Amino acid sequence: MAQPPFDLPIRPRRLRLNARLRGSLAEVRLSRSDLIVPVFVREGRGVRQEVASMPDVYQMSVDVAADWLEKLAEHGLNAFLVFGVLDVNRKDAAGSAALDGDNIVCRLLRQSKARKLPMIGITDLCFCEYTSHGHCGILTADGSTVDNDATVQRLLQQALNHARAGADLVAPSGMMDGAVAALRAGLDQNQFTDVGILSYSVKYASAFYGPFRDAAQSAPQFGDRRSYQMDPARGIREALHEAQLDIQQGADLVMVKPAGPYLDVLAELRRHLNVPLVAYQVSGEYAMLEAAARQGWLDRDAAVLESLLAIKRAGADLIISYFAPLVANLLPR
Ligand SMILES: [Zn+2]
Repeated sequence: MAQPPFDLPIRPRRLRLNARLRGSLAEVRLSRSDLIVPVFVREGRGVRQEVASMPDVYQMSVDVAADWLEKLAEHGLNAFLVFGVLDVNRKDAAGSAALDGDNIVCRLLRQSKARKLPMIGITDLCFCEYTSHGHCGILTADGSTVDNDATVQRLLQQALNHARAGADLVAPSGMMDGAVAALRAGLDQNQFTDVGILSYSVKYASAFYGPFRDAAQSAPQFGDRRSYQMDPARGIREALHEAQLDIQQGADLVMVKPAGPYLDVLAELRRHLNVPLVAYQVSGEYAMLEAAARQGWLDRDAAVLESLLAIKRAGADLIISYFAPLVANLLPR
């Protein structure tokens, strides 16, 4: 090669020389309105209990959770996703507490409406937090797996309770076939045509859910969830099939879960689908970053922002993340 000044007209580095140039040319930006914050509510008053495997994530009673969400709204967060955490002695094989119209999830929704909380209220629809066996619905007679159709009927009852309590979106997470169609029809018949459905359409049987099961006390007491959640070894065709089925059945938004290890799936869905995509940065993704940061092995803030930017770049419109409160403070106002 010739000595400088040699002939090199194309120099991509020119556009990276300073922060102003880089900022102007960013193709993907993260903002507070991209984020959905998960909330774990439990019985009691004044309760705020840290989850062992998820530092800085708390199970809260309804009063504490409502105060916390009010603060997050002031910091610019737009949406929350609520999970109920039940005491073991209140669980049964059918997950009956999930169908109580005055349970903790419904009470938090009513509180947030009473306080005129400026946030979108989303509820997780599933039974694993409520069943004594920890599976996502009623079991078949032989106990080998979840009974799909019986569970779907109960999901509708759960959704109607949430809609009555003020949910803006319901989010079926159990990977039951036909759930979205049943929910859409049932909500419409009960005059809840404006309550939307965010379907956990593409949800893998993932090892990265471990810490969540601490947080929600929802670990399966036997076996695993591979007979309903998706096999990580299956590719984009199954993901597309699942998402398209849910869209045909009336899903307003579809989700990929987990997010970080499945960016390829997210990107492919983005290319093929026209509904908003949501990605769930799950508890294991949170715990890994948090653990490394606590050891001093990673710069937490930088790594968190990069992980979320990557999920957005892959195609997510909205991201559910336990880091949402941290990020609300990190992003420029
Ligand atoms: Zn479940």
